[in-house]
Order: sequence, then structure tokens, then C-alpha cells
Amino acid sequence: MRLIMMGPPGAGKGTQAKFVAEHFGIPAISTGDIFRANVSEGTPLGVEAKRYMDAGQLVPDEVTINMVSDRLSEGDSADGFLLDGFPRTVPQAEWLGGVLHEKNHDLDAVLLLEAPDEVLMERMLARGRADDTTEAISRRLALYHSETTPLLEHYANVLVAINGVGPVEEVQQRALAALNSKLGSSDTSEGDPEQSASA
Ligand code: ADP
Repeated sequence: MRLIMMGPPGAGKGTQAKFVAEHFGIPAISTGDIFRANVSEGTPLGVEAKRYMDAGQLVPDEVTINMVSDRLSEGDSADGFLLDGFPRTVPQAEWLGGVLHEKNHDLDAVLLLEAPDEVLMERMLARGRADDTTEAISRRLALYHSETTPLLEHYANVLVAINGVGPVEEVQQRALAALNSKLGSSDTSEGDPEQSASA
């Protein structure tokens, strides 16, 4: 099972990613968490990433991709994974597509967690993480809309969207229901050229 969790900052990706990954018995790989761990350990990667994170900017693709590449080479993700917060840009998605293609692997689903900007802003200000200043949040939201939403089209055939507003347990149930129906409905036979939209 190979899944991607997408959604704007503050949508609750981390919470839902952990739940969904546990449910399917796959590792949840969160680029934000890995960056934060590096920041708190003061590694060279953490020192570099912090500058961008504090400013609400994306860490450069090359740095992020190298980190994810290292993480995916650990054995635990050989049979499946849930990526949380990656890919976030077209070059990151292209890189991931190449890696999957090389291994003859397919993505099973991309789960999109949606919430309006006002709700996202309110939630992030309430949690008060180091990069949750009003200015950094605004920049992250703007970057999400400009850099990340183009990926939704890229993943259109595996995409399933749910409403991220509501109690955590309710969103969890929505996530499972949406994924199960997507996984059940999608034709996973590989490379079938017969699948086409009706005229
Ligand atoms: P949020 O979704 O609330 O923005 P994350 O924990 O996913 O939080 O990410 C925190 C920060 O880490 C981002 O603002 C960005 O600076 C950096 N980051 C995380 N994932 C990526 C990525 N795929 N590409 C570039 N930067 C990233």
C-alpha cells in the first residue's frame, strides 16, 4: 500500500497520517517531522532547513528529495508507506514518480484533507509551533496554493478528497471510508490501456 496525504498546512495531515498508517500497517513518513527532528538535534540538515521553515518557505527541492530518498532506502518502506507532506512541488512529484516507476510500483491513493483558510489559520495560531507566526502561516498557505495544488491534477486518477473540519475521530472515519472506497473501486491492473473516459 503506497499512499500520499496531501492538504494545506494546518489541515491535520500529521494526525490523520499516523492513524491511517497504523490502520494499514505501513510507516508514516512526514517530511515536516523529519525536518523538526533534525532541527532539534542541531544536525547540518536541521540548521539549513530551519532558516526556511521559520520563514514559512519550502526547503529547497534538492535538500528535501535527498532526505526522502535516504528515508525510503530504509527497509521498512519496501512494501508500503504513507508520505505526509511530500511531494509538495512539481519537481518533488516528478522525482517520486521516477522512483516508483523504476521499481514498478504504483501509488494506491492520494488522500486530500481539505479545510478553508480561515480554519487553518485559526488552528495554526492556536497550536503555536515555532513556525506558526501569522506571517509564516500566510506564506505557507500562499505557497500551498501556488506550488502544491498543481499536484492535485497530476494525481487526479488516484485522488480522494475529504473534509478535514470536525472532531478528529470523525475525520478519521471519513479518511478510512474514502480510502476504502477508492482502493476498492480502482482498477489496479497494471498498464491497462483500455481504461478510458466515456465519450
Ligand atoms: P505544515 O503542513 O503545517 O506546513 P509541515 O510539518 O508539513 O507543516 O512542514 C513544516 C515545514 O517543513 C514547511 O513549512 C517547510 O518549510 C518544510 N517542509 C516540509 N515538507 C516539505 C517539502 N516536501 N518540501 C519542502 N519543504 C518542506
